[in-house]
Amino acid sequence: MQITGKNIIGFETLSEGTVAIQATNPATGETLAPLFYKATIEELGYAADKAVKAFQIYRKKSGFEKASFLEKIADEIENLGDLLTERYVAESGLPQGRAVGERGRTTGQLRLFAQLLREGSWVNARIDSALPERQPAPRPDIRAMERPLGVVGVFGASNFPLAFSVAGGDTASALAAGCCVIFKAHPAHLGTSELVGKAIQKAAEASNMPDGVFSLLFDDGHEIGMALVKHPSIKAIGFTGSYKGGKALFDAAVARPEPIPVYAEMGSVNPVFVLPKILEEKGAALAQNYVASVTLGVGQFCTNPGTLFLQKNESFMQELEKQAPNAQGGVMLTTGIRDAYVKGIEHAKNFTQIIGVGKAPEGFTAVEPIILRTDIEGFNTNTHLGEEIFGPTSLVVEANSKEEILEVAKNLSGHLTATVHGTEEDLADYTDLIEVLEQKVGRILINGFPTGVEVSHAMVHGGPFPATTDARSTSVGTMAITRFTRPVCYQNFPDSLLLDELKSDNPLNIWRLVDGELKK
Ligand code: NAP
Repeated sequence: MQITGKNIIGFETLSEGTVAIQATNPATGETLAPLFYKATIEELGYAADKAVKAFQIYRKKSGFEKASFLEKIADEIENLGDLLTERYVAESGLPQGRAVGERGRTTGQLRLFAQLLREGSWVNARIDSALPERQPAPRPDIRAMERPLGVVGVFGASNFPLAFSVAGGDTASALAAGCCVIFKAHPAHLGTSELVGKAIQKAAEASNMPDGVFSLLFDDGHEIGMALVKHPSIKAIGFTGSYKGGKALFDAAVARPEPIPVYAEMGSVNPVFVLPKILEEKGAALAQNYVASVTLGVGQFCTNPGTLFLQKNESFMQELEKQAPNAQGGVMLTTGIRDAYVKGIEHAKNFTQIIGVGKAPEGFTAVEPIILRTDIEGFNTNTHLGEEIFGPTSLVVEANSKEEILEVAKNLSGHLTATVHGTEEDLADYTDLIEVLEQKVGRILINGFPTGVEVSHAMVHGGPFPATTDARSTSVGTMAITRFTRPVCYQNFPDSLLLDELKSDNPLNIWRLVDGELKK
């Protein structure tokens, strides 16, 4: 398979645009062939028309048909072999091992959604049987289940060129829900995007899916992305990226004549709280693991632990001073992300002290890690210190008492995660802290680090604003599917008109809530 630089619109590849864009290798600064042409507004319209027609067919596909389609996408991604992982490495500066791992995460998540569809109970089928004799008025037969929203627009993240990109969690959950997808590729990994887009296109044709079930448009800048959000055929948006980008798209979506939901995951600082007794017992190991977590993937994770709160402990600080200079930096994903990191650090240095600076390798966008410290007063006075600096850095905040720790927790804004390290005794002493944190985040961890987000049924990768624009959902794991569905109620329908999920004899043998009782 060759990378052509053309938009994928249903089963066609098209490029009518004249403005060329190109990917760059962040390790060398070299541009990568071929030229891609920015999608035009007409091409977006064409993709949307196809998707609207395709939706009328795709929404009726059974769970088994959609499952086979998702599995076929996973197979086609694997069939791309080294071509995909080599392009991934060239466009991201991330190592080959990460490319292979992320490909496994991507195909694994497609296959997990396929399993969910084959099992079938996710549709949340509910049946309230008719009560014709009920007094003073009879009750009609009422049934409900989740149905797909329509055509979904998805934006890929720069920091996961596979798992949060073209065939990533948002696309997988939208297709699983029965929605068609128009994807706006991230300009940092154009070639990787095209290869995966072609894998989806091939899988759609082979699985007898309608032309238009999936389209992929290229752009560098905001024109196509903004037009996608405003297009009347689009019924929901999935996004991972910056606060600025996510909020702009959310504002545009709610200002439409027909407002639509935007599921924007916009990152977070992921506060870590280390309690006094565990600091005494395991301070050295904690310092080592913390620095490793901060620098993993050059700190380019939305779950990077950006702040660590503790009650003053000099021996832990000395341990950090020992560990931080050994930390390894790396090549950042884009020059823009590197520049934002460098600028953020320069600014933060004016309000903090340096614990240690790690090493930067050779490379066009390479940066060094840095661990900073301040006291609680400094943190409370300079509120911007609580904002994300995307990259391999973290701020240690020293408090004087439990009360100060609780106060800072109460003042936190929404985050994706919060972590508490403590002995059993610590945890018993700080249940009030855990209660506060539960109201601030989507996931709380005890004695771990937040980097590494399992793709599973119980995972929540979300959280209150400003971590996301909708705290009621997750962008990772199978619960993500209901972001792209809505409940529909069918009153007094004969069995012949009902979907299999709601038919009286339960032909799919799924779990359903029948007259208030969960049964098959
Ligand atoms: P981004 O700048 O928010 O871009 C993400 C996607 O949204 C890109 O396709 C971008 O298009 C598009 N976009 C952004 N603003 C838009 C607007 N106003 N209108 C229309 N489209 C818009 O994020 P990024 O490029 O991935 O990284 C930049 C920064 O985001 C990082 O420095 C970091 O702070 C943060 N980030 C957070 C996470 C997270 O997990 N939450 C992940 C990655 C990055 P164009 O690029 O074509 O403009």
